[in-house]
Amino acid sequence: MTTQEKDKKYVANTYNRFPVEIVSGKGSIVADPAGKEYIDLTSGIGVTSFGVSDDIWQEAVKRQISQLQHMSNLYYTQPCVRLAELLCEKTGMSKVFFSNSGAEANECAIKVARKYAQDRKGAEYYNIVTLRNSFHGRTLTTLAATGQDVFHKLFNPLTPGFLNADANDIAGLEKILKENKCAGVIIECVQGEGGVIALDADYIRGVRELCDKYDCLMITDEVQCGNGRTGMLYGYMNFGIKPDVVSTAKGLAGGLPLGATLMDEKCADVLGNGDHGSTFGGNPVCCAAAISIIERIDDTLLTDVRKKSEFIFSELSGAKGVISVTGLGLMIGIKTEKDASEVLAKCIENGVLCLKAKDKVRLLPALNIPFDVLKKAVKIIKGCF
Ligand SMILES: *Cc1c(COP(=O)(O)O)cnc(C)c1O
Repeated sequence: MTTQEKDKKYVANTYNRFPVEIVSGKGSIVADPAGKEYIDLTSGIGVTSFGVSDDIWQEAVKRQISQLQHMSNLYYTQPCVRLAELLCEKTGMSKVFFSNSGAEANECAIKVARKYAQDRKGAEYYNIVTLRNSFHGRTLTTLAATGQDVFHKLFNPLTPGFLNADANDIAGLEKILKENKCAGVIIECVQGEGGVIALDADYIRGVRELCDKYDCLMITDEVQCGNGRTGMLYGYMNFGIKPDVVSTAKGLAGGLPLGATLMDEKCADVLGNGDHGSTFGGNPVCCAAAISIIERIDDTLLTDVRKKSEFIFSELSGAKGVISVTGLGLMIGIKTEKDASEVLAKCIENGVLCLKAKDKVRLLPALNIPFDVLKKAVKIIKGCF
């Protein structure tokens, strides 16, 4: 049996995979078993921030794995402490909790908001407001947070205590905060799975003001739009505000599983001894990988991300077959006249891997994709529209 046939037989059928198997790669080029090469504009859904088999990342992982691959959180380890320090220095946040995925980073953020509200206002202030069309993960609680009914219906009852608001409707949000006992508000500054849509800057600033007014925690889910993706280290930095809690994962460790929940001064000590935990969270190898990623997301790289973004927007806006281009930085959604799935199949035929988000073609290339590779890929996908 081929890998594809065995996958159908033995792996739970939860993914509608493309008919391509990837065995190796370097940077933004990946290859199938026959050696056919593809330009990768997906980076494993925004995970391989510096592409696949990146030399510096590999070196960091190899060095740590030969020294210590795991120790329980009952002992101190240096990589997790250094990463927390680095994240706090670069964001001005105060403390970090490490987990293994985006959903878990959000679970922690939700726990922080509920405990913060319980400590200050009472246990009945447990509601968390999330946006319609958002995506926050696949655990039962983060599904409850996700404002898209399609994800809910098979798994009820979900965790109670989540209320939905419409994106960019600040009056609507205030009404919810006024009429309900709330602990926090979660937004994605750029909605990823919802169709690569940046929220209005005024709205994001309005959420900040309302969270202060109602003493709720403002949480930004930066699982997809964080770690340099939008042309700033974290998405919120594009909007001149600072959230109370930031959750991130995907691109953080460049291809190893790591989630992080960053907490600002106000809530840094809400979680105390025994209040939360994770066996693998803060794993030394994952943290060493993340240090090698976060250290390299500097002004030069971010300027480059913004330049590449401008190039993609200018090439695709108004191009033949393109209805609209949305997003921020190297997180881009393209509404095409043709069905997005049809466009993606055509791109694969022509040697380029892209993603979908709702009915759009979505691009999440590696942050360091070389300009000439990007130019070549854009030319090919334009031909597929
Ligand atoms: C992918 C994603 C998640 C879930 O992350 P997992 O690592 O799959 O649990 C949560 N929020 C956003 C915005 C995401 O894009």
